Amino acid sequence: MTTAHGAAETAIAQIETFSSHNYHPLPVVVESGEGAWLTDVDGNRYLDFLSAYSAVNFGHSNPELVKVAVAQLAKVSITSRAVYSATFGPFVEALAKLCGKDMVLPMNTGVEAVESSLKLARKWGYEVKGVPEDRANIIVMEGNFHGRTISVISFSSDDDATGSYGPFTPGFVKVPYGDLEAIEQAMDADTVAILVEPIQGEAGVITPPPGFLPGVRELADRHGVLMIADEIQSGLGRTGSTFYCDQVGVVPDLYLLGKALGGGIVPVSAVVGNAEVLGLLKPGQHGSTFGGNPLGAAVGLAVVRMLETGELQARSRELGAYLHDRLAALVGRGVTEVRGIGLWAGVDIDPALGTGRQICERLLAHGVIAKDTHGQTVRMAPPLVITREELDLAVDALAEVLAEAGAEAGAVAVGAAIG
Ligand SMILES: *Cc1c(COP(=O)(O)O)cnc(C)c1O
Repeated sequence: MTTAHGAAETAIAQIETFSSHNYHPLPVVVESGEGAWLTDVDGNRYLDFLSAYSAVNFGHSNPELVKVAVAQLAKVSITSRAVYSATFGPFVEALAKLCGKDMVLPMNTGVEAVESSLKLARKWGYEVKGVPEDRANIIVMEGNFHGRTISVISFSSDDDATGSYGPFTPGFVKVPYGDLEAIEQAMDADTVAILVEPIQGEAGVITPPPGFLPGVRELADRHGVLMIADEIQSGLGRTGSTFYCDQVGVVPDLYLLGKALGGGIVPVSAVVGNAEVLGLLKPGQHGSTFGGNPLGAAVGLAVVRMLETGELQARSRELGAYLHDRLAALVGRGVTEVRGIGLWAGVDIDPALGTGRQICERLLAHGVIAKDTHGQTVRMAPPLVITREELDLAVDALAEVLAEAGAEAGAVAVGAAIG
């Protein structure tokens, strides 16, 4: 019999041998999860401050969602859209209404929702706006993250994401995030859309300057182009409201949703908008074998029902304010800056203490799972069901880790001075 420790080593060796190395996981092998907690194969418990990049906003093994999923599994999971399914109707009606829009185009992963919106924007440009064929352009932001397909990485500014993958898809114009003047200068008669993350998550939880999103809305209206808000990470409660756009009084033409829409159980994504755009699709013009499947629709409906009460959004708002208060107290003590809103924070680590990755490895040893992004930033995004006491545990762990790293860096500096 292998020991528990052996089980973790075996799993890591298997994964490193037989899986492509497109991720650099933290050295923990997860076996189960409940609420804000993950348990590894040795029985150690960790607070999850990543939430699978916000796919697990409602907590691991959320009992309500698991119940719905299990019941649906026993009925039917996949039908394809070649037939109507019983759970699809309630899901699309509820989601459209949650968004205040007419229609939903269901897909599976986030990047498929992004791709679908690009196709829709081009189609709208040619068929409604009257842009000459093959001339449409879409304005995107520097530092964006919208997924990993060829077309979507074609407008990435991240060398790791684009290296060795050309030739790229044309038709995108990149401007600095937060720069309304640059957007206006980039626009021409063939511009069909502006694609924007209301908060840039992967870039390090970058919130835009005040007035930016309303400004994008105003520019889109004035120039007759679509505003597409990628709320795949910022949406569905993460920032303290259903969409981050709500907090700045902006309604985009298209919402892109994913991640938490699948309740942390199945991949479910969607483009949500009005009939003027989504109504342009005719049978055969777009599709997905798994998009809108009965299992995903059942879980997605349960997710929408949870959001309709507003309880989780309020929780994220209140506990988020508390989290940000506590994190602000760490600025100058190993932290150089904290950004974000709600239960979502980008915490920049003083380079003297190590990289974001090194801090995350130390956090793991203190029972907290968090993920670095862009070198020095530690991203904190716990499930929205987390309690205040659990938040305290994680922030205390971060404070200890910073003190520990600071003491070691100090010892090294002293050693170097003496040596
Ligand atoms: C994660 C993410 C995506 C891509 O979602 P996948 O499900 O990984 O394809 C797109 N946009 C944003 C803002 C994201 O955070």
